[in-house]
Amino acid sequence: MKRNKKLLSSFVILLIVGIFYLFQNYPENKSLENINKRVEEAPVTAEERLEVTFIDVGQADSILLENEGHYMLIDAGNNEDGPKLVNYFKNQNIAQFDYVVGTHPHEDHIGGLDNIIKNFSIKTFYMPDVITTTKTFEEVLDSLAEKEMTLSIPKANTTFKLGDATVKVLYVGTEKENDLNDTSIVLKITYQNISFLLTGDASTKVEQKLNPTNLESTVLKVGHHGSSTATNEKFLNTVNPKYAIISVGENNQYEHPHTTVLNTLASHNITTYRTDQDGTIKVITDGTNIEISTVKTDTNG
Ligand SMILES: [Zn+2]
Repeated sequence: MKRNKKLLSSFVILLIVGIFYLFQNYPENKSLENINKRVEEAPVTAEERLEVTFIDVGQADSILLENEGHYMLIDAGNNEDGPKLVNYFKNQNIAQFDYVVGTHPHEDHIGGLDNIIKNFSIKTFYMPDVITTTKTFEEVLDSLAEKEMTLSIPKANTTFKLGDATVKVLYVGTEKENDLNDTSIVLKITYQNISFLLTGDASTKVEQKLNPTNLESTVLKVGHHGSSTATNEKFLNTVNPKYAIISVGENNQYEHPHTTVLNTLASHNITTYRTDQDGTIKVITDGTNIEISTVKTDTNG
């Protein structure tokens, strides 16, 4: 009997300590409804990893890549997303980007880039060789000039390193294109056995120009916010992705993503994530395994 009493009191003490510990670690200012985490496959525990975050910027694109403390940003949402992205990156203690890429000079891709240029050190700034007369584009050029930075034009079929990851430039449009979307810089990022294909807003016209031997990828950022002008079925067969990410705004005026694209993805059994439904989508890989988690916040305004 005495032994049972001792066991019981030990249990009660453990229970109290446990409850106390839980309360101590409960995140402040965060309601559980705000955290919508969904994890696919096995969690990646290795310290050496590539993280690719598709940030929820509504009807726009912004993709952050990190490996071994090296950061790369591809697009920065619309004009109003600029200050939000600056805060988001500063909260992660990012001070410098090795590379910042503006895929093409439309507001929903380069809108926040002036804020990024003003607030962070940038080693290389890439955009296609295209000029537009919009205020947004001029703001990007002005902020580059203020920091005495130059714009670099990447060359197709060249590669560069982001930590241990390899970034290959598959395509860069010129001003000969009738559609600015088709000037999009197309990149493939490879980390050991896992790869990401990011096509900006390039249409099927560009998809057909890409060298098919380069295209097979684990994750596809679906072109042009899921518009029917991109993600041709033949192209999708060649890329053969396991996962698709659509960066798209809720109830957008373009009715992106189009049903035809969603149906094609579904018929190929590709697991699809959407920023309008899932929020910010983070893909972590150790080069073999993949972990995907999503966080829905109100940063989209
Ligand atoms: Zn766009």
